Amino acid sequence: MQENNKITKESPIRVRFAPSPTGIMHLGNIRTALMNFLFARQKNGAFVLRIEDTDPQRDFDPEGHQIIQDMEWLNLNYDEGPIKGGPYAPYFQSKRTDLYQTQLNELIAKKSVYRCFCTAAELDTKRQRQITLKQPPRYDQACLKLSEDNIKANLDSDTPFIWRFAIDHDQKITFNDLGHGKMTFDLTHFSDFPVTRQDGSFTFIFANCVDDIAMQMNYVFRGDDHISNTVNQVILYHAFGADVPTFWHMPILCNLDGKKLSKRDFGFSLKDLRDAGFMHEAIINYLSIIGGSFQKEIMSMDEIIAAYKFDHISSTSQIKYDVEKLRWVNHKWIASLSPEQLLERCMPSLEKNYDDASRRDKDELLKLVEIVQSDLVTLNDIVPAVQFFFTKPVVTSEQVSSVKPNAPLEEISKILVSNLGSLKDPENFLQTVKAESKKQSIKLSDMMPIIRMILTGSPQGPHIGSVISILGSSEALSRFQAFFA
Ligand code: GLU
Repeated sequence: MQENNKITKESPIRVRFAPSPTGIMHLGNIRTALMNFLFARQKNGAFVLRIEDTDPQRDFDPEGHQIIQDMEWLNLNYDEGPIKGGPYAPYFQSKRTDLYQTQLNELIAKKSVYRCFCTAAELDTKRQRQITLKQPPRYDQACLKLSEDNIKANLDSDTPFIWRFAIDHDQKITFNDLGHGKMTFDLTHFSDFPVTRQDGSFTFIFANCVDDIAMQMNYVFRGDDHISNTVNQVILYHAFGADVPTFWHMPILCNLDGKKLSKRDFGFSLKDLRDAGFMHEAIINYLSIIGGSFQKEIMSMDEIIAAYKFDHISSTSQIKYDVEKLRWVNHKWIASLSPEQLLERCMPSLEKNYDDASRRDKDELLKLVEIVQSDLVTLNDIVPAVQFFFTKPVVTSEQVSSVKPNAPLEEISKILVSNLGSLKDPENFLQTVKAESKKQSIKLSDMMPIIRMILTGSPQGPHIGSVISILGSSEALSRFQAFFA
């Protein structure tokens, strides 16, 4: 590698998010992207997006469109990457093959790598044998021992091969990790790892490390599942004479049962959460606070950047994802919006569910979302919460009596019917109804859900005075009359 790839203490912080375009951005990915982003912003460094699209089995999102869109939606703006470009472009691995070939040639020239002609079936047989003999499954270096003639014969007969790195099994590998501290690995049981595949393409271990060196990454934050890859990559850093970055192998996200989060868990993918009406601010906020302890839990991006303590990272190996806590964070975020912001975010679902939503008066809609705001946990909750406004409920007396089975429905009805004339002034109507109920020893906790049920079709919801005023007194009157008819 070129000399200018040396990292010094004064070098600006450079971190990256390097997803494979699998088509699904899941919570673990987002947390990795987020931690890199926060670190770069806190330390005035650069946050790079690099799309790792060299594995055809994980390439379902051509050109990373989905990733780029998701990053934009989450407000995780990168300084260098696809579309934006930057000093180390291109930021797609599929366009960086020449660099990988040059670097491979360097290793070939240094005899750090060798051709391996073993077939997948042969490797599997050897592996099974080692397992049976209770030996650690490690490549037996058969091809390292091939004579020049043997290699030539294989090449002449076009036998497919891969390049493997010849590791020194007596060596120990050490690197620093923000969570685990200094990590040391004995290479005795490590295999000579593949650098290329049989089709000539480059492996993740190789391409990812070559890019991190070329793009001058001095910190690498990624999932705990990469630790053994890191060991092999540190071998490569040494082989190229490059400085080894500081790592943070981040704990894996688990469900409440302690199992690795999977598609079966709600909220696994960003799409799940977005479709269910979670705000991007809440997702970011939640993923920032889990696994840490913060005095204030609801924070804006700037507050999170200032509050995150990268020098006090715990070494836990698991972080539990708790959808109820995420819902609480989302609820708090929704509550913090102005009526204008809330309406803007809810308008798409209102238009989708209620034909005349877009024709309604804006001020009326603002008032509407405001009166239900404190009841919303997700943005999608707006749809049932305001149904009463767009659709006249059909409420039967059975439904009303089931709301409060022990309430004196007949007396309550009498009070309501005799006061319908004062509906024009909703507060006055309510005061009178309350006063009369009190006189007759009817509990307000029986009375109110029944009134709400008649007006909205649901016993829970906004303040009844607000319901009457948003519906208008004549609409409220017609709903009472329809019920008492
Ligand atoms: N493409 C790898 C992944 O998605 C990147 C890992 C890394 O951050 O180095 O797991």
